[in-house]
Amino acid sequence: MMVLAAIDEYDRLGRDAFLERYGYREARDYFVIHDGRRYDSKAIAGVAHREVGGRPLRASEFSGGAATVGKVLTHLGFLVIPQQDVSPAKAFLGKIMSLDTAVSNGRPKRHQPLTLLWAFGRAAQQAERLVPWDVTRAEISALITEFGLNGDRPNPEYPVLKLTHFGLWALPDAPEPPRSSGSAPLGWMRQNQPISGLRDWVYDLITEDEAVRSQASAYLLSTYFPDVDHNKLLTRVGLGDVDDEPLAQSDGVRTPGRRKATIRKIIRDDALSQLIKTLHDHTCQICGTRLLLPHRPYAEGAHIRPLGNPHDGPDVAGNILCLCPNDHVLFDQGAITIQDDLTVINQLTGESRGLLRTIPGHDIDPRYLAYHREIR
Ligand SMILES: [Zn+2]
Repeated sequence: MMVLAAIDEYDRLGRDAFLERYGYREARDYFVIHDGRRYDSKAIAGVAHREVGGRPLRASEFSGGAATVGKVLTHLGFLVIPQQDVSPAKAFLGKIMSLDTAVSNGRPKRHQPLTLLWAFGRAAQQAERLVPWDVTRAEISALITEFGLNGDRPNPEYPVLKLTHFGLWALPDAPEPPRSSGSAPLGWMRQNQPISGLRDWVYDLITEDEAVRSQASAYLLSTYFPDVDHNKLLTRVGLGDVDDEPLAQSDGVRTPGRRKATIRKIIRDDALSQLIKTLHDHTCQICGTRLLLPHRPYAEGAHIRPLGNPHDGPDVAGNILCLCPNDHVLFDQGAITIQDDLTVINQLTGESRGLLRTIPGHDIDPRYLAYHREIR
């Protein structure tokens, strides 16, 4: 492909020589990202023009500005970002946080979030990025039926087209996809039967960067699914047991020289706890400890309002803390409570232990903190 040839040459020559050869100045506004590296977008587009126009364009030969160039490259499936210091992860999370979703009875529709979570699950499992339309349609329809708002129609052609125009989704072999409104989408999908999936760069991010995957998933869950069992949804889309490494030596495996009875049983994780813990990099939200086991860090997901009878707390991100085992026990037993302003109180001394550590994308719901203070 022509853009890739230009990128190859850029790599071969180096930035300065490449820009020099074709008469470009260093880009200050738009960069195209490929394989985690940045390239001056206008120069790449101009040199890529060689394939269609017979020769590369020099900087002075085309105007329209970097924004137009960016549009063309974006349309070709490349990630174009508007400043040198923005990373693909930031660009991606920025997009996730600005999805343009329709609203129904005051609540944002869930078609795009469900489509994305479905694709994140596939990426996390390293399944094929591009999926035939009949499979995509069947699987996303089922998710909309199960987790959508009341009365939502299972019509995945709309979110797929919307996300395509928004720059997160790709329909690589399909000519000119229609807008995601009106009656055109269904017929177009039937006729073209496109393969589709996350854009390359999005798929790579989600596959390789567990922190970004967790952040995006947590944001979608808490923004669009406040009343849904998050654990169930995560498990359903395959974002559950992604990094469920065997816990060596912990479950009844004989360890010479150590008595089995002294080994505290390590808590098995569900999907939502895993996600919250990854989000916090396994760092305790109360004391900041990041406990290291031989092969990985260890933390526990603590429900604030307990699950099950008689408390019936919900399995949602806003009801879970990431804690070290000590603080988990203290919190469960009521030796620690947390105020609405997130001050952590040691109930034995009445003293403050400082503020709960928080991170963007994981907001604690004060209703559950109040409930926990009541029952202690
Ligand atoms: Zn702690």
